[in-house]
Amino acid sequence: MRYEGIVIRPPSEAGSLILQVTLGCSHNKCTFCPTYKNKRFKIRPLEDVKADIKEAGSKYKVRRVFLADGDALIIPQKKLVPIFDDINKFISGVERIGLYGNAKSILKKTPEELKVLKEKGLGIIYMGLESGDIEVLNDIKKGMDTKKAIEAAKRVTDAKILLSVTILLGIGGKEDSKRHAIETGKVLSEMNPDFIGALTLMVVPGTPLYDDVEEGTFVVPDQMGFLEELYLILKNTEADNCFFTSNHASNYLPLRVRLPDQKDDALSLINNILEDERVDLLRPESTRGL
Ligand code: SF4
Repeated sequence: MRYEGIVIRPPSEAGSLILQVTLGCSHNKCTFCPTYKNKRFKIRPLEDVKADIKEAGSKYKVRRVFLADGDALIIPQKKLVPIFDDINKFISGVERIGLYGNAKSILKKTPEELKVLKEKGLGIIYMGLESGDIEVLNDIKKGMDTKKAIEAAKRVTDAKILLSVTILLGIGGKEDSKRHAIETGKVLSEMNPDFIGALTLMVVPGTPLYDDVEEGTFVVPDQMGFLEELYLILKNTEADNCFFTSNHASNYLPLRVRLPDQKDDALSLINNILEDERVDLLRPESTRGL
């Protein structure tokens, strides 16, 4: 197996076989994101990927495979299908294949193409929404609007593929914090994903957002500000049957909430911490990480 540069995967893919099919991210412009800044986007040659699949199949038996890097769904269907076929042919035990897909790459696939991938094992797509507020999305150069995000979500769920959406607490800054949170809850309600994962902003040197913070044009919310956002997002999210988590290492308050059943309990918990300013119940700054 060959890996190039930093390889990331969602926390829930910790036990998966990671197969690198692209290098970097096809968008690579988000102002807060340091992940692939030094990696030029490239689709790996099919022959190299096929060789990795054969090698993996000779060594491992795995239930889950995750296709890295940033945006594997952007691979044209005629190249992506053989990758799925080879995984199914050479690696035994695979029950689910997952990948990252942004709104653009999801909408580039027709509903029929997504259904074909589903039949071949695509079980989950991880999509970064970050914010449901259009001004924030423009500010952070997400390259997507909320209408497209909702349309993409519908296409994924119509194909009966699980959808996991990531949002980012604090990405509106202190100034737009409340609007970012409320609008994010509203858009999540329309997307109605199976999973929502909240991360908390950590400003990384070398990113455009870091420069904004240094220049004073972007102010990061404080701990209680992040918590207020978490409260407002949850309050404004109406989902049928969704698992909401904030257990990523960047978060101050790890939560695992089944929506809608456990929503009120989670809101009460956050509210109590906010009212009593129980900073001691939050994850210490020193143990946060990306
Ligand atoms: S946040 Fe996602 S879409 Fe944006 S640059 Fe980073 S990897 Fe690419």
